[in-house]
Amino acid sequence: MGFANDLQGFQSHDALLNVQDAEIELLEHIRRCVQIKVKADREYSLAMTSMFAQAGRLESSTEELRGSLIKQAWDTVVETTETIGRVVRQNADFLATNTLESITNLILEKKALRKVYTEEHHRIHDELTRLREDVFRIKAEYERCVEAANESRVKYEEALSKNESAAAKPRKLDDLKDRFFKNSRRLHQVHNEYVLMLNEAMQYEKHLRTILLPDLLECQESALREALETWQGVMREVVERIDFCAEGFQATHGKLSYALSIIDPDKEYKAFLDEHRSNPPQWMDFAIPSPLQNTQLGKYEGTLRPDRIAVDDLTIHDVRNSELAKRRAVDHVKRDRDEMKCLYDRLSYQLALLVGALSEVDPNNAPRALNIAEAPSPSAMTVNPNIALQDEEWFHGVLPREEVVRLLVNEGDYLVRETTRNEERQIVLSVKWNGHKHFIIQQTPEHKFRFEGSAFDTIQELIVYQHHSELPVTIKSGAILYNPIFRERWELNNDDVQLIEKIGRGNFGDVYRAILHPKRMNVAVKTCRVNLPEEQKKKFLSEGRILKQYDHPNIVRLVGICVQKQPIMIVMELVPGGSLLNYLRRDGQRLPTRTLVSMCLDCAAGMAYLESKGCIHRDLAARNCLVGLNDEVKISDFGMSREEQEYVVSDGMKQIPIKWTAPEALHYGKYTSMCDVWSFGVLIWEIFSLGQAPYAGLSNTKAREKIDQGYRLPAPERIPSPVYQLTLRCWEYTPERRPHFDEIHKLLLNVFKHL
Ligand code: ADP
Repeated sequence: MGFANDLQGFQSHDALLNVQDAEIELLEHIRRCVQIKVKADREYSLAMTSMFAQAGRLESSTEELRGSLIKQAWDTVVETTETIGRVVRQNADFLATNTLESITNLILEKKALRKVYTEEHHRIHDELTRLREDVFRIKAEYERCVEAANESRVKYEEALSKNESAAAKPRKLDDLKDRFFKNSRRLHQVHNEYVLMLNEAMQYEKHLRTILLPDLLECQESALREALETWQGVMREVVERIDFCAEGFQATHGKLSYALSIIDPDKEYKAFLDEHRSNPPQWMDFAIPSPLQNTQLGKYEGTLRPDRIAVDDLTIHDVRNSELAKRRAVDHVKRDRDEMKCLYDRLSYQLALLVGALSEVDPNNAPRALNIAEAPSPSAMTVNPNIALQDEEWFHGVLPREEVVRLLVNEGDYLVRETTRNEERQIVLSVKWNGHKHFIIQQTPEHKFRFEGSAFDTIQELIVYQHHSELPVTIKSGAILYNPIFRERWELNNDDVQLIEKIGRGNFGDVYRAILHPKRMNVAVKTCRVNLPEEQKKKFLSEGRILKQYDHPNIVRLVGICVQKQPIMIVMELVPGGSLLNYLRRDGQRLPTRTLVSMCLDCAAGMAYLESKGCIHRDLAARNCLVGLNDEVKISDFGMSREEQEYVVSDGMKQIPIKWTAPEALHYGKYTSMCDVWSFGVLIWEIFSLGQAPYAGLSNTKAREKIDQGYRLPAPERIPSPVYQLTLRCWEYTPERRPHFDEIHKLLLNVFKHL
């Protein structure tokens, strides 16, 4: 039993990729949990220390209690608490220093392993497919040659038998003989190519099953098993440092030890193998009848024998040449093989050295290297030479400054990001230190990186040095790097997004249907044109910032943002029906009134939720709603939204959708949720008029004037009377007289129930 035997089938291959994805996801989850634990333990330890300091202050002011037994007892309590705090801190430091790094390395290793496996698997199978195509290509040519040779032979023999015409036209006879000779020669050459190719294909097919695929699977299995051991070690480290102050710790620890003890690399993949075992794919049948025996192609009477190399006066030169070329190729491969064998021996020896060295120590209690009382606390920051800057967890790509400031909370929190100034890309270190400081990383003429002090080959080395040395980034700022801030789960990798097709056009760039890897999730992706000014890019991302706080079935859900590189993107749930406006115009006629009311109801539910969260949408309209499954409507396009109870526009009224906007917003630039209620009235009107344009035939200015004079849109044909009454209330000139969204929702629900 093992990968090599049981996982040769294509279903098993998919399953093997999926199980690796799942393992990587689990590891990432573990890493997040450990990070949270480290943070919580450090805070806990800090609280313990400050309690101890408080106790110290009390001691200095209580001379009278010298010798008091109850005071002594309390001192013991405080000391013990301080000791516990210190141990908790040490444990947290250990997790931050060693364990998190091990987990990160393990994740990288597993990702690399999966990649290599996928590529190799493709390569091996692609080769077989290529050979098969070659066989059939040559076979087709072979058939043509047999036919041509037979045909030219018949013609030549016919001409020969007609003696008199042969005498009359000797040149024609020569031509026919020549053609017969040429066609036969070509046939013999192709025959040989075919026999060689067939042999190669059959051998490759055999090697694939017996060596190539089993070897690949075996390697993968042993690498996965090794990773499992490391993983087990990492989890042991976490478990050993789990809060031992809690009540019932012993019992919990017993359970955890048991949970660890049952991890067994020999059994780990047994259930997986049992579930995903499959038969190897069907043999490819190369027992193809020879074209020589195919009488449909004409009767063949030459000297060729199926599957035999023909060596005769027609082919002798070619065969010799082929033989020479093959001999050279064999020599070449033999040299490669010997070289690989040497490499294999060298690596095996080095492996044996490492295994021997490791076997001499207890891996859970490695001897101390520094013989000093308190080793300097190293930090979780190390340079991994294989990681590009943009893969570092603390590199946040083109995340805008406002977002950066929100992430840096405690003194010493820091991250690295990218910005563009005067069309030049700059890498910036942002630190929370007496406010927020942003340092541009300087590049020396020798292409090294520095702030004020030493220069380094890579930005990673520079940052790790600043972190370890705890020296100020610049003397003037005094800023010290204590705590790297890692990317949030919203910050996705641009490379994980595979754009499939364009489905719309937004203000900032095109909108695509896309697949988000590794989960292969269908998503909608808004892209931001690369050449837009920074200000616009910030505006584009503000939609993502607002959406990430909301979770409601009638609000389009944010999956994440991609800011690692250009183009920046917002990734959202895919709402398959597209914009409500287009949907109404296209399919409105077939929708029953009940569905139209239920669409209004969906919008009201989404808007009531937004109002409860203090969000003003400012651009509510049918064009900005999306239609999902079962005609469910979701509010979208939060590009103009604001998270304030009241928002006063200061930057002019440029792109305001006049015909959807409430009078007080148009006159004084004053926005509240009551303005959204006005727009909601227009949205109801759009839904029941099946996507007509409001105030058609009136210019924006004219429409504004008429509204101020008391004009309101007339009732569309299909609108139920209570719904139109509600619409008119939404268009009350005085905002305070309009209903709130929860009331609107209740009223619509009532209408819906009675339809
Ligand atoms: P912008 O805010 O940049 O103007 P929109 O939100 O209006 O962009 O999107 C433009 C178009 O893209 C929409 O009209 C719709 O057809 C399509 N679209 C946007 N988001 C989604 C989504 N989540 N699912 C499906 N289609 C979408």
